Amino acid sequence: MSNFKRIAIMGGTFDPIHFGHLVAAEAARDIFKLDRVFFVPSGNPPHKKNYPVTDAKHRYLMTNLAVAANPYFEVSSIEIEREGYSYAIDTVTEFYNRYKSQAELFFITGADAILEILTWKNVERLTELCRFIAATRPGTHLDELLKFIKKLPDKIGKKIHIMEVPALAISSTDIRQRVANHRTIKYLLPEAVEQYIVKNGLYQT
Ligand code: ATP
Ligand code: MG
Repeated sequence: MSNFKRIAIMGGTFDPIHFGHLVAAEAARDIFKLDRVFFVPSGNPPHKKNYPVTDAKHRYLMTNLAVAANPYFEVSSIEIEREGYSYAIDTVTEFYNRYKSQAELFFITGADAILEILTWKNVERLTELCRFIAATRPGTHLDELLKFIKKLPDKIGKKIHIMEVPALAISSTDIRQRVANHRTIKYLLPEAVEQYIVKNGLYQT
């Protein structure tokens, strides 16, 4: 067994992973003194059926390329290996069972994701198992986020910590569109991920 005291899960589609994800995870690691951040690429996300999500194998490999240089970062294939839809509660429960007596659990999200927390499966149970770290993100105002959290039942609201990070107006959607439109994606994501996208012809359409 490891002797991690504080570990975090950074969930996402990572289609593709970019510097917005990495900055949020690293800021959380620093501020919350995390021993490890596990990036967990989703298998088949229930909330993203409006576009065909790239094969999990590609998203998993890109995530590995992106985190390779950070000794605190790891990639977990837990959601990819699970059949059907992935819910945060399933993943958090699995991490909880693995580390419970030993480590405190955090879940890192962007501000936009937190605004949807009430739609998440078993949200009350979720906030019993872990604390949330909500990274600010261009497009969601800090005021709006604060107001939203204040209105949540205490049980849930008290488990959400807002974390201000250097604002990066980067999204996977924008990166996919740029590739499709033959525009540059340089300096929006790690170079190794950019090369992987080119080499495998991802996001061409
Ligand atoms: P898409 O455009 O496909 O939704 P995305 O850029 O939002 O992609 P996701 O994989 O959906 O990336 O995000 C995973 C997590 O990372 C979410 O909690 C999201 O809010 C957060 N996140 C993504 N981009 C940023 C960013 N630029 N700054 C802060 N948090 C971010
Ligand atoms: Mg998103």
